[in-house]
Amino acid sequence: MNYRISQRAASLSPSLTLAIDALAKKMRADGMDVVGFGAGEPDFDTPQHIKEAAAKALADGFTKYTPSSGIPELRQAIADKFQRDNQLAYQPNQIIVSCGGKHSCYNVILATCQPGDEVIIPAPYWLSYPEMVKLAGATPVILPTTDQTEFRVAPGQLRAAITPRTRLFILNSPSNPTGSLYSPDEIRALGDICVEQGILIMSDEIYEKLVYDGARHASVASFSPAHYDHTIVVHGLAKAYSMTGWRLGYLAAPAPIAQAIDAIQSHSTSNPTSFAQKGGVAALNGPQDHLATWLAEYTRRRTYAHQRINAIPGLSCVNAKGAFYLFPNIARTGLKSREFCTRLLEQEKVAAVPGIAFGADDYFRISYATSMAQIEKGIDRLERFVRTLTR
Ligand SMILES: *Cc1c(COP(=O)(O)O)cnc(C)c1O
Repeated sequence: MNYRISQRAASLSPSLTLAIDALAKKMRADGMDVVGFGAGEPDFDTPQHIKEAAAKALADGFTKYTPSSGIPELRQAIADKFQRDNQLAYQPNQIIVSCGGKHSCYNVILATCQPGDEVIIPAPYWLSYPEMVKLAGATPVILPTTDQTEFRVAPGQLRAAITPRTRLFILNSPSNPTGSLYSPDEIRALGDICVEQGILIMSDEIYEKLVYDGARHASVASFSPAHYDHTIVVHGLAKAYSMTGWRLGYLAAPAPIAQAIDAIQSHSTSNPTSFAQKGGVAALNGPQDHLATWLAEYTRRRTYAHQRINAIPGLSCVNAKGAFYLFPNIARTGLKSREFCTRLLEQEKVAAVPGIAFGADDYFRISYATSMAQIEKGIDRLERFVRTLTR
């Protein structure tokens, strides 16, 4: 039997992140003491009042289909969030709740891009963006950046990449995998170019709440009505409320785009899980004080990990300004990222993600969303490993 796989599916790259994760899990199952720096999710539990709201919804029988774009109560809570945090005015019909921020990104790309279109993606990028663009039949155009500019694209670089085919620019600040953050002025400058050239911006702001040292996140949609008209903001509950498994994300868009996404969603996934949405309402409308505690803990881990990694001869690492990742440079070790991470896992039982998965082969990604004890142990091992390379 010839199981012909569609061109669309065959064009995808399998996830390196998942391959490393699978290997680490297997080693752990075999009884090995593996330190996991691979996870892209907070290690904290979902706050209790959020879990209770969902449990109550379940107990009350809130278990049926909901409107495909989300319950009115949650869309209103999201509109209130945008007003409160970003001074952005959205009507509930401009907001679509989806099955995770990833699903929101996919919906945006499917609704706005088609064969012949180009989508500009700065690298290092979140690994799903280019694959989603390919699924839509459009072409990813990668803009490389390095640690020299703290992984930020310059306005001139963006301008030079624009062609008559450019449809969408993907912005992710704070960034996964680098932890970099654009200043409000830098965001505005990139937005200005997109407005001037008539290009849409998909702004993935899922790490909005995780910024350090008093830095400020600004949404590109907030600078002017023209910026607002050119932007789709993608967001979710996974990172700020530790709700990765709940599968709840959302977006805010100009009404015609939201309407198109509503149609796509109504024929693909229908609504996000009913009782999870009730948890989402509790998350957005309830107390936010867990965030200060989490941020203090992330800050402590980040500072420690950053100092230790920079003290290892052969590695260098810019400090993160947001999210919960560090992205050390390994060029001086003489290894490319895949070999570096495979050997690190085999020799020292430390799981981390090779930079090539994010379009940057001279780096690897460490997630510090794990305990301080694990971070200390993992970096001791990393140090020992790198010494064997550079001796
Ligand atoms: C985690 C993440 C998302 C969304 O995650 P979901 O679990 O699908 O909500 C989106 N963008 C980036 C950059 C992320 O790191």
